[in-house]
Amino acid sequence: MKNQIIKEFKERFTSSPTLYASAGRINLIGEHTDYNGGFVFPGAIDKGIMAAVAPNAGERVRVYAVNLGEYAEFGLEEKDAPRQSWARYVFGVAREIIKRGGTVKGFDAVFAGDVPLGAGLSSSAALESCFAFALNDLFNDNRIDRIELARIGQSTEHNYCGVNCGIMDQFASVMGQRGKLIRLDCRSMEYEYFPFDPADYELVLIDSKVKHELAGSPYNRRRESCERVAARLGVETLRDATMDMLEAAKSDISDEDYKRAKFVIEEKERVLTVCDALLAGDYEEVGRQMYATHRGLSADYEVSCEELDFLNEVARECGVAGSRIMGGGFGGCTINLVAKDRMSHFVTEAVGRFRERYGHAPEVYPVVISAGARRLD
Ligand code: ADP
Ligand code: MG
Repeated sequence: MKNQIIKEFKERFTSSPTLYASAGRINLIGEHTDYNGGFVFPGAIDKGIMAAVAPNAGERVRVYAVNLGEYAEFGLEEKDAPRQSWARYVFGVAREIIKRGGTVKGFDAVFAGDVPLGAGLSSSAALESCFAFALNDLFNDNRIDRIELARIGQSTEHNYCGVNCGIMDQFASVMGQRGKLIRLDCRSMEYEYFPFDPADYELVLIDSKVKHELAGSPYNRRRESCERVAARLGVETLRDATMDMLEAAKSDISDEDYKRAKFVIEEKERVLTVCDALLAGDYEEVGRQMYATHRGLSADYEVSCEELDFLNEVARECGVAGSRIMGGGFGGCTINLVAKDRMSHFVTEAVGRFRERYGHAPEVYPVVISAGARRLD
């Protein structure tokens, strides 16, 4: 990828560029917890975006997207927003830096990536954090701290791409380190690194490639359930609730709201259990918590679907250590923690049996926990 980017850059521009890279992300555990003030547990992966970037001494941005074979050129004022959706990520990052009092001048760039688009691995965050890091390095002497770079990516999604996301994706993409996951407290933004560098296990994502749109707005309905229960229990968010509190109030809460809150409260505990297990190097325990999360997402939070439950069951039958839905649910990937000597058997079974049943093969993405945004020298 690196050689191709440099070659494409030389064909289009005359200056000599600096290379930057950033990463997509996984979330090991901690689902539907962000809006409940809880924990998420992401890490950057070995799939990302790489960009060659050089200032061009003008006021315009010229950028070529290798994977799409598309070129865009635009100015740096609010009125200059490009039409192409991919270019709006680059434009948005530049604008958000400028809005914060930072400097961005004209630049030339060529970029490419290997994060599958829209598969739940956050290719958009990889793109944002790569350019945020590059523009901070080239025009701002790295004065903008990394957390702010993540916020710049998040604001780009909100203000230029129409995606009202939380901070997790950009945070992981900017802050990720090789062999480490990050427990991020979505209430306080405190974070802590935990080792994730198993000798005998690997992570693999199985992408069902289905996306079910359910009637109504299931995501908003679940948020509302959580807010109702929090209000009933007299806490700001379910972060501050315990199972004892929930049980004591059970008769005043609808069965559905009870199940939703139960999942959120238990999920908070599972994240903390996984932290202890990682410190002890106990990956079998990590895996058990992942299965428990899947059960909760399926039975209590009710955001699974037939295809994801099927993949989870195949994982169990193949002796996979841990498996669960990754992301909001209703489709997308499962994330699987697999002993190395079971990997090829599991992947063969998952792909073959899924295809037989649903008529299309799932995609398989092995991932290694790797570094986030950085300059390549
Ligand atoms: P994801 O879950 O992967 O973040 P999104 O829909 O949020 O999915 O972001 C995908 C969008 O990000 C693409 O449609 C494209 O505009 C942009 N993008 C990501 N990676 C690339 C790439 N390698 N080249 C061009 N655009 C990209
Ligand atoms: Mg995205």
